[in-house]
Amino acid sequence: MIPAPLLIPQRVLLGPGPSDVAPSVLAALSKPTLGHLDPLVLRAMDELSEMLRALYRTRNEWTFATSGTGTSGMEACLANLIRGGDRVLVLAHGYFGLRLAEIARRCGAEVTRVEGAWGRPSDVERARQAAGGGRFALVCAVHAETSTGVLQDPAPLRALADELGALLVVDAVTSLGCVPLEVDAWGIDAIYSCSQKGLSCTPGLSPVSFSPRAVERIRARAQSSPTFYLDANLLMAYWGGPRGYHHTASSNLYYGLHEAARLALEEGLEARWERHARLGAELAAGLEGLGLELGVAAEHRLPQLTVVKIPEGVDDAAVRGALLERFGIEIGGGLGAFKGKVWRIGLMGSGASPRNVALVLSALRAVLGR
Ligand SMILES: *Cc1c(COP(=O)(O)O)cnc(C)c1O
Repeated sequence: MIPAPLLIPQRVLLGPGPSDVAPSVLAALSKPTLGHLDPLVLRAMDELSEMLRALYRTRNEWTFATSGTGTSGMEACLANLIRGGDRVLVLAHGYFGLRLAEIARRCGAEVTRVEGAWGRPSDVERARQAAGGGRFALVCAVHAETSTGVLQDPAPLRALADELGALLVVDAVTSLGCVPLEVDAWGIDAIYSCSQKGLSCTPGLSPVSFSPRAVERIRARAQSSPTFYLDANLLMAYWGGPRGYHHTASSNLYYGLHEAARLALEEGLEARWERHARLGAELAAGLEGLGLELGVAAEHRLPQLTVVKIPEGVDDAAVRGALLERFGIEIGGGLGAFKGKVWRIGLMGSGASPRNVALVLSALRAVLGR
């Protein structure tokens, strides 16, 4: 029996990603597939790099997209920068900080993991004490910790990295396109994000950027990086320079991210940050109006990802199931230590609209019977 063609309904994606894809991005994704070395694809990649520089607020020459989701960018940054035995300091106050530490360990680093309380940003002073004045290759942190809904300001980490002689690596998977991010002004050396959260494309690409210092370190490796697929030297020979074959990159994903980046820049970054801030605050106020408790104090709260505590006696899976079945709305459950304890409501990219705020609040009111 051959299955029937897939029937995929329209839903409203208000979880921690993917976010709803704009119609013009879906249209761009379905343009004709071309070869990965077609001049038109190479030109689209050049334009994409330039737009990613604008989104990241950087002049970094090495700014491109790895094939794969956000985690591919995480691996690309760590696997290219870490040499076996390097000391790496990771500030972890959530699930993705722990993932950073785990990948650094697998890359052969000697990892100092500074664990902070979930629901608050990491304490930079504690990290400084944990480092104990030693020399480190990298300091790593998550800008927008999606498991807890907490914003960590990366700017103060530059001074710490300088004291330790380290490069600064930042996870911007849930921050790019949603909240202020200034790669050059904040002195970030390596950064990665994704296509499917703040930029509202489909999953499948990870924008990365390396500072000149990071590039120098990668170029100076005596031993090539253990990853072939994500080797930045090889990838840069495809994105720039000689433009030879490295892997069969998806032209369609490049078209989609190209359109998503265009939409973000057309709106303007400041306007986009303001839209997320305004609607995130509206959602937070509305949730409190329903008598729900938020997971993060207002000053550290992410506008694009709101964490709500599940009230005593309320069935997590039943509520999320009802939202999906009755209203076609997806929200996220908890991850790691927060599994079963919180819901995560995303208002990211094209999903951050007044209509979606009203929709999720009224649907929650109905499902919770409040
Ligand atoms: C989603 C996310 C990741 C992982 O990205 P994938 O696209 O799922 O691979 C990493 N870090 C943070 C902060 C995230 O929110």
